[in-house]
This record gives sequence, structure tokens and C-alpha cells, in this order.
Amino acid sequence: MSQTITVKIKLLPTKEQASILYEMSQTYISVINTLVSEMVAEKKSTKKSSKDIPVHLPSAVKNQAIKDAKSVFKKTRKNQFTSVPVLKKPVCIWNNQNYSFDYTHISMPIMVNGKATKIPICALLADKDNRNFDLLTYKLGTLRITKKSNKWIAQISVTIPTTRGTGLKIMGVDLGLKVPAVAVTDDEKVCFFGNGRQNKFKKRKFRSDRKALGKKKKLNAIRRSKDKEQRWMKDQDHKTSRAIVNFAKGNKISVIRLEQLAKIRQTTRTSRKNEKNLHTWSFYRLSQFIEYKANLEGINVEYVNPAYTSQTCPKCSEKNKAQGRKYKCKCGFEKHRDIIGAMNIRYAPVVDGKSQSA
Ligand SMILES: [Zn+2]
Repeated sequence: MSQTITVKIKLLPTKEQASILYEMSQTYISVINTLVSEMVAEKKSTKKSSKDIPVHLPSAVKNQAIKDAKSVFKKTRKNQFTSVPVLKKPVCIWNNQNYSFDYTHISMPIMVNGKATKIPICALLADKDNRNFDLLTYKLGTLRITKKSNKWIAQISVTIPTTRGTGLKIMGVDLGLKVPAVAVTDDEKVCFFGNGRQNKFKKRKFRSDRKALGKKKKLNAIRRSKDKEQRWMKDQDHKTSRAIVNFAKGNKISVIRLEQLAKIRQTTRTSRKNEKNLHTWSFYRLSQFIEYKANLEGINVEYVNPAYTSQTCPKCSEKNKAQGRKYKCKCGFEKHRDIIGAMNIRYAPVVDGKSQSA
């Protein structure tokens, strides 16, 4: 068993390299668009090879473009040519035989003065939390380079074996505001992550600072404060997700279960009038971070139906409302209310489709 994920790497090309990459990626998509429209016109796949395509691209890259065009054509034919996609965003793809990566540079053939030349371009693993992920021990797939709002991004697909064998060990994770995350494993190990009170305090501080700035009409400072708050929240999500995945790894977990669309929670749990909008959090992003980091460790993430996960008795399935700090059931079951959700999420019905819909 294995799964393929995409790792993002920031590219730092020189001005000259950047203009070459731009040129190449424009050429790349125009080759694909041309080939696709030819194939659609003839209603059959192309027989062209790299030497039939008179553009300035390394032949390996041309071959990749032909391959991509063929797969676009296949999909189009499957849809009975109802819509023929036209690529607009510049992109260029190298197959895994054609590039190398050593954490600081990606080297691949680019067109220098009309000749394909292998050049190292400065690279930076974009996701700072991936530092302890040993990319190079895995099988690397294609290298995709694209430009996003003036930044050059390299995406490398990586095939990672999933940890199976010693049976399925499941861990439920409940995301919330008061307690940012609670995990409970099959063998009843419990772990709390983050500090909801501190987060709330911090967000309130950001808000009151902005209120003061608003009175002084300092609009730029308000915007900076908003950006700062966003960065801080993202950073918290990185830390929490890392801690959760480390805990899972330490307990040899093979599946992490999360609620699907956990963000519904943030409206129901913060319905107190004065708290509205004050303490919101994107559970969606935190889920995504957990999924991404877990996958890098070969741990699967599944999403479950969130209905009644905080009310159902984990022992007898009766529904109860927690009173105060404790959750009590007629059957005698009794636990701290904050861990009920995670206990139920472990064994709740898994929602079809692997990924969480936005
Ligand atoms: Zn019960």
C-alpha cells in the first residue's frame, strides 16, 4: 500500500532563470493546447513525437507535454467533447528522470541560448513544518513548476508507503475552540492539544488593538494586525497538527479520524451573543494540516459523520447532554465531557470519499 502526495517547494530563480522558466512554461501550455485541439479535431490521439514539435523545449519536457496532452484528450473524449479545456496558467513539467533535488537546489534542463542545459535553481521547502520530513528517502515523481502571484513554486509528487501490517490502530481527534484538539486512541490514551483560553485571549487582544487603531484611523496598521493574526492562527494550526501527528506516530496509529466539516461547530459553540465572530477558527485548515502531515508519516486520515459525536454515550450509544464538566450516562459510563467527542469519532461512520469537501 502506498499513497502519493505533493510537496511544495519555493523556487528562488535568478532574474534570468525566471524569464527562461516563464518562456518555457508558456511554450509548454501552448504545446498542450495545440496538441489537444488537433486531437479533438481528428477525434483521435496524436502520433507525434518530440521531434515533430518545433519549439524550444528540452525533448524530455516535450515528451511530458505530449503525455499530458494525451491525457487531457482522453478525458475530453470521455466527456464526449462537451468541453475542451484550454490551459491558461503557465506551467512546465519534468519527469523524474530529468531533475534532481538536494534540499537546496533543484536541477533540471532549461533552455539557455536555445540549448537544453541542466541548471541548478535555488529551492526552499515552502512548508517550514516539513523540515523533519526526509523527502529524499522516498520515490519522487514528476516535477511541476508554476508561477503563483509572482512566486515560483515547484511541486514534487512523492510516493509514500502506508504503514500497515500490525493491524489497524485508530485514533479519534475532536477539534474545538475551548480545547483546540483532543485525541483518544483505541487503547484509551488521551491527549489534549493547544490552549483554547490563551487563543481566545490572544484574539481578543488583536481585536481590541484594532479597535484602538480604528479610532485613530490607522488603516495600514489595522491591515497589518489582521495579517499578523492570520499568520499567528496558521502557525498555531501547524503546531497543533504537528503535535497530533507526533502523538499518533508515537502510538503507532494507522488511521486518524476527524469530523467532516468540523467548521459547523464554530457557529453552534459560539452562539453566545457577545462572543459572536470573536473567537472563530478554521477547523477546515487544521484538518487539512493534520491530513497532510499524517500522510507524510504513512498515516491515513478518514472523515466521519459529525452527528451526535459529543452527545452519544461511547459505551451504550444512549444520547445525553453533558452537565457541567462531566458527561454521565444511565449505564454508569462517566467521563470528562471534553473527551466524549474524540471517543465517538474513533468509531463513527466514515464518510465516503477520502477528502473533506470545502
Ligand atoms: Zn451509556
